[in-house]
Amino acid sequence: MLSPAVLPSPVAELPDPGPELAAAGVTLRLKRDDLIHPTVPGNKWRKLTPNLRAAADLGHARLLTFGGAWSHHIAAVAAAAAAQGFASTGVIRGDELARAPRNPVLAAAEAAGMELVFADRTTYRATLRALDEPATRARLEERFGRCYVLPEGGSNALAARGAAEIPRELPDLGPQDVVCVPVGTGGTLAGIAAGLPPGATALGVAVLRGGEGYLEGEVTRLQRAAFGRDFANWRVAHTHHGGGYGRIPPELAAFAEEFERRHALPIERRYVAKALHCLNDLATAGTFPRGTRLTAVITGPPDAP
Ligand SMILES: *Cc1c(COP(=O)(O)O)cnc(C)c1O
Repeated sequence: MLSPAVLPSPVAELPDPGPELAAAGVTLRLKRDDLIHPTVPGNKWRKLTPNLRAAADLGHARLLTFGGAWSHHIAAVAAAAAAQGFASTGVIRGDELARAPRNPVLAAAEAAGMELVFADRTTYRATLRALDEPATRARLEERFGRCYVLPEGGSNALAARGAAEIPRELPDLGPQDVVCVPVGTGGTLAGIAAGLPPGATALGVAVLRGGEGYLEGEVTRLQRAAFGRDFANWRVAHTHHGGGYGRIPPELAAFAEEFERRHALPIERRYVAKALHCLNDLATAGTFPRGTRLTAVITGPPDAP
């Protein structure tokens, strides 16, 4: 499904992790999931491939999903559907966008063959809240035909199982390890934590504001759905969203530029930079015991300039 995939994704050790991490006595390596696939990168590949297989097994010809105007998930579903021969429909939040010029994400999705449908925010939210109810499914099928429905961000039980492969590609994890990942909807964190061996822990960094409680509930719900139980080896930091999704305050921008200079590696800003920034600040604050090995999952490539 969806080849070529670079698997296992490369692990890059950072010989010079920077003054803050060095002073804290911790090391940092990067799990380069951004390199997995050119158009369905990172955690989107991890989460979508099990779903594509399920959709094919169930005889579906169309994928239907939901997202905001800048959603990486929408772009990934459009590309994955095109590559695997599915038709696709994207329900986009915000009916005012129907008449506006397409931004690069939506333009690329349309160019890949995705049908875009714009929903006002109230309808969009109500549909997602009741997505698993038979009445909602019936209404969607009536409008769009028989389709394989992926929730917003693509986070469902199969997605969490796909993400559980990430720690399995990291040999010799143990009590000295913290695996860190940015969190949008929580599906990737749910899977990573479930896939860790005893002793190792996962740290999620929320990129949206105001997710305290809600995100933890989502991760727990997804773990129960995917693995039949929840796990206690993870937590979510709510301190580094930078003011909200897509907000890049000057301090974060400066950190990201410095990181890029030091490691000669461009980094994605909405998710990846926030997670790395959080690791840096937590290390400075003495949160990690000396000798901790941090692994940051690079969940996606930088946005096209
Ligand atoms: C979509 C996305 C995430 C969020 O993943 P969730 O499973 O929704 O938490 C993280 N990083 C990048 C780069 C993404 O595109």
